[in-house]
Amino acid sequence: MRVYNFSAGPAQLPLPVLERAASELTDWGGSGMSVLEVSHREKDFVACAVDAETTLRRLLAVPESYRVLFLQGGATAQFAAVPMNLTTAGDTVAYLNTGQWSTKAIKQARAYDLDVVVSADESASSYTTTPDPGSYEVPATARYLHYTPNETIGGVEFPNVPDAGDVPLVGDLSSTILSRPLDVGRFGLIYAGAQKNMGPSGLTVVIVREDLLGRARTITPGVLDYTKMAAANSMLNTPPTFSVYLLGLVAHWIEDTGGLTAMGERNQAKAAALYAAIDSSGFYSNPVEERSRSWTNVPFTLADPALDAEFLAGALAAGLTNLKGHRSVGGMRASIYNAMPMEGVTALIDYMAEFERTHG
Ligand code: PMP
Repeated sequence: MRVYNFSAGPAQLPLPVLERAASELTDWGGSGMSVLEVSHREKDFVACAVDAETTLRRLLAVPESYRVLFLQGGATAQFAAVPMNLTTAGDTVAYLNTGQWSTKAIKQARAYDLDVVVSADESASSYTTTPDPGSYEVPATARYLHYTPNETIGGVEFPNVPDAGDVPLVGDLSSTILSRPLDVGRFGLIYAGAQKNMGPSGLTVVIVREDLLGRARTITPGVLDYTKMAAANSMLNTPPTFSVYLLGLVAHWIEDTGGLTAMGERNQAKAAALYAAIDSSGFYSNPVEERSRSWTNVPFTLADPALDAEFLAGALAAGLTNLKGHRSVGGMRASIYNAMPMEGVTALIDYMAEFERTHG
């Protein structure tokens, strides 16, 4: 039996993708080998990687002037790769701080001898808000403005893409990429770990505007140097082959189910249903200001935290897993990425109502 898995990542994957991968696991494309066993230099695997990139580009309508890179080290490595690739010592960079992931990115940037300007900091609201457009300033000299469109732990999401003017906008889209249509042209650079909406962990996708290449510091390791990786078609070293293959399958699954517009509509409906259930109960609550509520990560608390363990045990018995909130905030968190069907959200809502009826 498949459960509804509400994990923040690695997250539930689409069943048709898993079934396809399972069906060809021991004999991939008539090769007599698993895709796990094929050399990354072999022409069939190169074609598989090209197809994954092409499909991703088509889905996101990535303009020609951008390179798509398949890297490793997670989004965490990008916290360092971004300053290493886009700055020299003494430069100014700007960040918007909306929670734990942006805080980590800022902390990492401080290691690179930069003037790190935090243009907006939402700590005063305990990170339950996003800054109003126009309420903060980005120094014109900044090499980039970095922000986290969706804070996976806090469940806080920007309702709009910030306007950085001529300053290149850098986004950590780990928990929002492919959840809806995106105007890639607004960004200088996008990065995202694959393990939420794109496939398994081990792969980090970077989409970088070509004019930002060629600026890496000499200390940048080759595998994190966008220019070197672009020149090597992301195969300067052995790529995470299975993750790249699965990304391709996931991207095709999104296309086959109506593309990003349809995906966005489904995700919005899922989130709306869950927030409505939380807001209409006197027992559950979500602290995030309404306009900044995440479509994909929905934290909520019970009126009595002493009931948390019982709530989780009952959920598990009902086939609803991984609802425990992040260890730093407690409570619950339901991550409802692309592969979570509306039926899973409805099952959670029904379980929550029944738990409230018997414990509220
Ligand atoms: N940024 C965001 C928004 C995330 O959600 C995560 C992981 N949950 C990270 C960065 C860190 O990613 P990784 O573990 O792939 O390094």
